[in-house]
Amino acid sequence: MNKTLIVFIDGLGYDRVNDSSFTLNLSNEPIRLTPALGYSSAQQSIMWTGKMPSETGRWSELAYSPESSPWWWLGSRYLMYLDELVARAPRKFRSLYEIVARETIRFLSGWIRPFRSYDAFAVPVSKLSHFTPYESDIHQPGCLGETETLFDILRSRGVNYRYIGYPDVKEDHEVHGKGMEAIMENDVIILGFTELDSIEHHYGVDSREARDKLGELNAFINDLIALFESSNPDGTVIVFSDHGMSEVKHSIDVQGRVNCLDLRDGYDYLSFYDATMARFWFYTEAAESMITELLRTIEGGVILEDDELRSLGLDFGDDAFGDLIFLVDEGFVVSPNYFQGRTVPRGMHGYHPRNPGQHAFLAKNDEPVPRSTISMDEVFDIFIQALGIT
Ligand SMILES: [Zn+2]
Repeated sequence: MNKTLIVFIDGLGYDRVNDSSFTLNLSNEPIRLTPALGYSSAQQSIMWTGKMPSETGRWSELAYSPESSPWWWLGSRYLMYLDELVARAPRKFRSLYEIVARETIRFLSGWIRPFRSYDAFAVPVSKLSHFTPYESDIHQPGCLGETETLFDILRSRGVNYRYIGYPDVKEDHEVHGKGMEAIMENDVIILGFTELDSIEHHYGVDSREARDKLGELNAFINDLIALFESSNPDGTVIVFSDHGMSEVKHSIDVQGRVNCLDLRDGYDYLSFYDATMARFWFYTEAAESMITELLRTIEGGVILEDDELRSLGLDFGDDAFGDLIFLVDEGFVVSPNYFQGRTVPRGMHGYHPRNPGQHAFLAKNDEPVPRSTISMDEVFDIFIQALGIT
């Protein structure tokens, strides 16, 4: 087992590594890393397993699966009417309803079936009964079922490893502090810095807040690298990210447009509005043709065809993530959506991975990676090689 330090930074794009506020003290230049289409849960499951979503069946936080939903008890027709009424109510009342409903659900769900994944997403309460959440903590034993994660492998081989990051340690300064201790105590240290992502969403990619955070991360990470390399001269350091971040310039109210059709959400079709995607499940042919036709007229986005989904590793063979996926162009955002509600973020990711602004990076010391671009499913092999696992 090779002594190894793996540092993950959420949301640090390739274009921003080695700019004035962030320069890694590593012997090799960073290489470009192409993310998969999707959000954090998609990138996480790929990077820690080396498998694409079509192989693991894990992509979005929630999968369409009414029969296994822990929220089956929310599927009442009355709740749908209540949701519709509340949607038309004044903003203050809506916020209050959301808080009360969500806290009640959180309490009751934990009591009925404890799980860690229900977060403050703005998914309408009445829609939850159609979905089953994944275990959000990918570091938990066996959380991807049959598919082994790097953490499962390290555990099964009895490696003295330590993971410090989301969801147990959320603040960067704490990851740094605990990481410095772990370098002296553990053989394999895996650290996750996640604050930059939310700062870029909230304030924008080129904001002072994001630049300040980059400066802080730069100091933390070079500090960790220096301590690790001085204590382990033959050890390997890998620093990488999961995606870049693009500036949001336009928003599209896909939900408003679809709601104008003479169809009922939850009866003729089911919709799910991600920040950069709108996904649909069709219950009637009329709904399929009307919604498809409408989406084709919306500028700033496209329907992903089967060939495209296959090439993106998103051909699931079932309807877990939708019968149809509409993806917006870089710089657009679906608003309102079930991630940010009605707030339009200033920075976003989850666009088509061909956009350079979405690209992540990977940098390491010792042996350089002999390529200038790799994809997210190739990161896992780099870990395995560095760790010396055969
Ligand atoms: Zn994000």
